[in-house]
Amino acid sequence: MPFNPKASVGSDFFSGSFLTGGAKFYRRSLVKPIGPKLVDRRTGTRKLAANFRVKIVFSKKYAVKLRAHVFRADKFAAALKLLLKGKIIKPADIAQPPRPLRRDLELAHTRSWTDKLLKGRLTTENEALAELQASKEVIEAHIMTVGGTVLAARLALETGLGINCGGGAHHAFADHGEGFCLLNDIAVAVRKMQQEKKIKKALIIDLDAHQGNGTAAIFKDDKSVFTFSMHQRDIYPQAKERSSLDVELGRGTGDRRYLKTLKERLPGVFKRSAPDLVVYNAGVDVYRGDRLGGLKLTAAGVRKRDEMVFAECFKRNIPAVLVLSGGYAAGVGATARLHANTMKAAIEQRRKAEG
Ligand SMILES: [Zn+2]
Repeated sequence: MPFNPKASVGSDFFSGSFLTGGAKFYRRSLVKPIGPKLVDRRTGTRKLAANFRVKIVFSKKYAVKLRAHVFRADKFAAALKLLLKGKIIKPADIAQPPRPLRRDLELAHTRSWTDKLLKGRLTTENEALAELQASKEVIEAHIMTVGGTVLAARLALETGLGINCGGGAHHAFADHGEGFCLLNDIAVAVRKMQQEKKIKKALIIDLDAHQGNGTAAIFKDDKSVFTFSMHQRDIYPQAKERSSLDVELGRGTGDRRYLKTLKERLPGVFKRSAPDLVVYNAGVDVYRGDRLGGLKLTAAGVRKRDEMVFAECFKRNIPAVLVLSGGYAAGVGATARLHANTMKAAIEQRRKAEG
């Protein structure tokens, strides 16, 4: 659908909440409130929903071509194709996200920034800071990505695992965009689930090579959301924000040291945050073939990282949302394979948790 700023609010397509609007799939299968079911009221123990079925959220609108840009949005469609080809998922397992409403975006963003985006009125400075040319299609891609992560969060609360085949715009601040990110889909999704009283506390595990500075800033004074960012010290952002926990790593860290550090840190992070929901920002720019990140993990190392995160979530019966975020290997195929591996690891770990 072409971008039409006037249609942003109030047309039929956008009317209603996430619950009633847009996606047929959602209306059919996700109408019941699900949060309270996750905890056994009598014993207080938490359990994951039984009968897990894979659903992956994706919209063709995510894939906008950015001319000569290091960020290849087509990597998400390519990753999805790999899952279909490998029969990890069927076409029927793909869920279309509904378009978020203005008031949903404003759960994490200022009115003036939301307004600028919905009206397509970014200044040259706004674009320079975001490091992208914000055409109508680009803005629409970012808006739909927010809808995708919100739907993935709903799926996580219903089935234990929700995957957005895209998302992870962790450099978007409340009032501006940075580092290829315009809207912080993670922050909107967490706040939306809180607003609907499906969760109280959330944990964001951000293992992209770059610090989750936008997410950290948005939740800086919010004790209900724990932000954990493990990232490379000497790359963007130069001036780091303060997450609830930052772990900084040097260039060339490699598998062994990276995985050891993560293994040591995760139990404490879960203990301190006691989350009802985890959002895992699984940027693959930690890979040794990446053009922006320099942590130098092998593909097997990235895979182990992902398995570790999901195993830690599921052994505590905490639902997890996966967003894919960064990844800039030379050639879209290599990046797509890494993102597909992450989604595979998520699905496998979820199935394993079901026994
Ligand atoms: Zn990154």
